[in-house]
Parts: sequence; C-alpha cells; structure tokens
Amino acid sequence: MHSSDRPRFAILGAGMSGILAGIKLKQAGYDFTIFEKADRVGGTWRENTYPGIACDVPSHLYCYSFELNPEWSYTSSPGSEIQAYFEGVAKRYGLEGSMRFGDPVVRCEWSGPGDGRWEVETGAGFVDHFEWVIAATGILHHPKFPDIEGLDRFEGAIFHSARWDHDVPLDGQRIGVIGTGSSGVQITGALAPRVDKFSLFQRTAQWVVPIQQQAYTEEQRAAFRTDADLLRKLHDDMSIAFNDGFATAVLDGESDMVDGIEKQCREHLETRIVDPELREKLRPDYRAACKRLVVSHNFYDSIQHPSAELVTESIDRVEPAGVRTSDGRLHELDVLVLATGFKVDRFMRPMTIQGEGGVLLDDVWSERPSAYVAVAVPRFPNFFMLNGPNSPVGNFSLVQTAEMQFDYVLQLVDRVREGTLDVAVPSVDAAARFEEERTEAAKKTVWATGCRSWYLDDRGIPFAWPFPFSRFRSEMATPRLEDYVLPALSK
Ligand code: NAP
Repeated sequence: MHSSDRPRFAILGAGMSGILAGIKLKQAGYDFTIFEKADRVGGTWRENTYPGIACDVPSHLYCYSFELNPEWSYTSSPGSEIQAYFEGVAKRYGLEGSMRFGDPVVRCEWSGPGDGRWEVETGAGFVDHFEWVIAATGILHHPKFPDIEGLDRFEGAIFHSARWDHDVPLDGQRIGVIGTGSSGVQITGALAPRVDKFSLFQRTAQWVVPIQQQAYTEEQRAAFRTDADLLRKLHDDMSIAFNDGFATAVLDGESDMVDGIEKQCREHLETRIVDPELREKLRPDYRAACKRLVVSHNFYDSIQHPSAELVTESIDRVEPAGVRTSDGRLHELDVLVLATGFKVDRFMRPMTIQGEGGVLLDDVWSERPSAYVAVAVPRFPNFFMLNGPNSPVGNFSLVQTAEMQFDYVLQLVDRVREGTLDVAVPSVDAAARFEEERTEAAKKTVWATGCRSWYLDDRGIPFAWPFPFSRFRSEMATPRLEDYVLPALSK
C-alpha cells in the first residue's frame, strides 16, 4: 500500500501553498483533491481585502518561480492583483476539477500500520481516503480579537481587518483602527486622508521602513513580456537580495543590516514627521526587526493628514459610542476596525488530526506547535505542512518557502514509492534534536531582543525558522533519510 504506484493526495487549503501543491502534483501525474472551506481560491489574499492592502514583499518575488508575471503594476502590487494572479494560475493549470469548495475538512485520521491511509472527512460528511495529506492552511489565518472590555457593546460597525465589511460606508465617517502592524499601517495609508476623522490606536510604535512604491511602466511590462530572461533574472536577483540578504541579515540584532535599517527609519521619521510631539509618539524604543518590519510608502504622510489622529493613551474600554482611553477621553466613532493580528499557533486546527496509534495533533501540540524542519510531525505519517510551524516567516517570501517545502515532500514521496521508506514520518529523536537546536538559535535572534510580537511563543521564544535562508534551502534540497523512521523500525 505504502509504495502504491498511484498514491492519492489530500491538500488542505486552496491558498498560495495549496495551489502550488496542486500544480506540482498535477505535473507529476498524481491524483489529488484540494479541500477548501471557502468558495474560492486565494487564502490570505481572498480574506484580506482591507483598503490599502498590498504585499510588501516585491511582486516579482512574491509569485511562483515557474509562473513569473510580467504584468505586475507596482513594485508592491495591491492585494486584488495578487488574488487575481493566484486565481488565474489555478485556472491556467486546470485545478478547478480537483477542488472541493465550501466544505471544511473536520477530520484526518491515519488508519495504519497495515492499511496506511488517511481518512479525510468534511463538515458536510464527505469521506475519502488518501495516502498523503498536505496541510496548506496558512499561518496568518485565524483573526485575533483583542481582550478589550465592551467590544460587543459598540453601536457602530466593528470588524477585524481580515474580515472587512465592504457594505459599511467609509467616506464622511469617523473611523477608528486598533493596531499598528503591517495591516493597520496599510489601512492608515489608504484611509486616513479619505475619511472625516481617522483615529489610530497605537500600543507600540513601529519601525517604519520607507519604500518607493513604483509603478511599472507599459514599456517595462512589454520588456518583461518579451524577454523571459529579463523577468527570470529580476526574480532570481530579488530572491537572493531579499531572502538570503535582507531577511537573513535582520535575524541578527547585531548585524550591520539592522543598524542600517534603524538609521534609515530614523531619518525617515525625523525628516517626514513635522510635529515633534507626534514624532516622539512614533519613535520605537526597541531594536528594529524585533517585531516584523513594517514597510510603507505613505504611513507617515497619512498619519499627518488633518483628519488623522494617533492615539497613544491606552484603551480603557469600548463604549456604545466609541473608544474610551485611560485619560478619560471618549473617541467617538462610526466604524471600529480591529487590526489586531492573528492567532498564529492554530494552523490547521480546529480540524481533528489523528496519527499513529490514535495520537491527536491537538495533544502533541498542547503546549505549542512544532515541526521537524518545519514540515512534519513524528507519528503523523505522510502528513506534511507547507508554511507550517517553525517555517521561515518574518520578512521572507513565503512563496519560495512553500516551493522548496513541496519539492522536499515530492522527494519523500519517491522514497516511499521506491520502498526506501514505508511511510514518510520523522523519528521522535530527530524532531526533538531539531527543536532543541532551533530553540537555542531562536533565542539569539533579533526577535528575542525585548519586544512583544506574534513571533514569540508562550515562553517568549521566537517560533520561526531562526537560521539563514541558505540552511533552509539546503535542508529542503535533500531530505536526511536518517531522520526518518526506516522500514525495519516502523513495523
Ligand atoms: P500584527 O502585526 O500582529 O499587529 C497587531 C497590532 O495590534 C499591533 O500593533 C498590536 O500592538 C495591536 N494590538 C493587539 N492587541 C491589542 C490590544 N488589546 N490593544 C491595543 N493594540 C493591540 O498584525 P497585522 O498587522 O495584521 O500583521 C500580521 C502579519 O501579517 C504581519 O506581521 C505580516 O507578516 C503579515 N502582513 C503582511 C503584509 C504585507 O504587506 N506583506 C500586510 C499585512 C500583514 P502591539 O504592537 O503593542 O502588540
């Protein structure tokens, strides 16, 4: 069974990673089903439609290496364009016929040893069996609502940034936004100059990296269209500069790169913000890149718009008419947006995922999620995650990450088919060794230099990939089979 010539794959999620897995499986001639709880593809780009949404990873990097896109409009293209790109690619590769929409997977259960297959069940009661499960359910997926008294008593419109209610009018309204992460900053850039009154509730100031948001000219797009080498070179150069250069260098709080970023951000703050009082409110007091760097071409201009106010007094409570801050002031609002981030330790949950001997993933991850080289969990055979726990996040491009992870999985599929492995499952020891090394390295990253962020786990230790991107690339290039349970031991 395990070395079946025609193993079948269940892919959980039709976002960027799930579409990628579908394309690669189709190209390799495998049978697969992509399960998607929503009614269309796109993942984070389907869910996040807030005003100002864009990807701050350069567009020519934030795309599949095998589907470069000459048509990007900007260096950091808007979210709707990215969504259209993923929809277009999924269509071009003919994935629709292999997708099940509008029905969430609720259970994946391994039936081994013997009949080593996964039984996958959806909320609607559909059941099917697969040799492999690929969880491509995303990290920034479960909205995190703040624990603020009175949220449910607010009489205006209230929603999370990832659940934007487009029926709510904005023009001429008083809008409040809680949170100054990448989402809150992009919303501010777009909305503050447009509405009657804009209140941004900031708990912690951000390092804001200035970028030039450049439109690609028709001439440049024509050149990309006709010269495939030019487009390829742009992508590859960006990958090296961004993933191996910038995103790797900022892991080290002592690096010249972090010094350089602080200097650049400080200059941006000093030269751009006119009012000294506002400037001090916007000045961060921790090391740059400790939180995920916020990148913006318009935040400082927008927050200085006459309609905008940066509120730094802490929030006491939400009242029917608005937000009451600790200085006793009521900020009256028509709309309150919670740009308060995501629960990043949930991953595929609340699905019930049951591995060998009935072990539940929820129990294995009861303290915190972790994964051997960020892709697999002991006792969950032939179960792999794309952009799962311990993956490179931060300022890396998650598209390159998912591509490397899936190529890694396909190599393991070959090892199982040829009989080198019965099933692909890392050993408990290998996973523990990796986790120990990862944790020690994580403690030395810039993320652990004293700030609050979504990178930190329940112990305050960064959960993400703490090594250079080159280490990730080499881990993914060739699976270490000695870290997997070999046939004699898996009997
Ligand atoms: P986030 O970075 O987690 O930011 C959440 C914000 O909400 C923080 O400013 C936080 O303040 C604030 N907050 C949370 N609870 C609060 C409370 N009870 N009272 C007051 N403030 C509260 O979330 P995000 O902005 O949605 O971004 C999440 C990640 O998504 C980013 O880091 C990035 O990886 C990704 N993203 C990427 C892009 C892109 O262009 N590529 C765009 C958007 C998002 P503290 O700072 O004090 O905790």
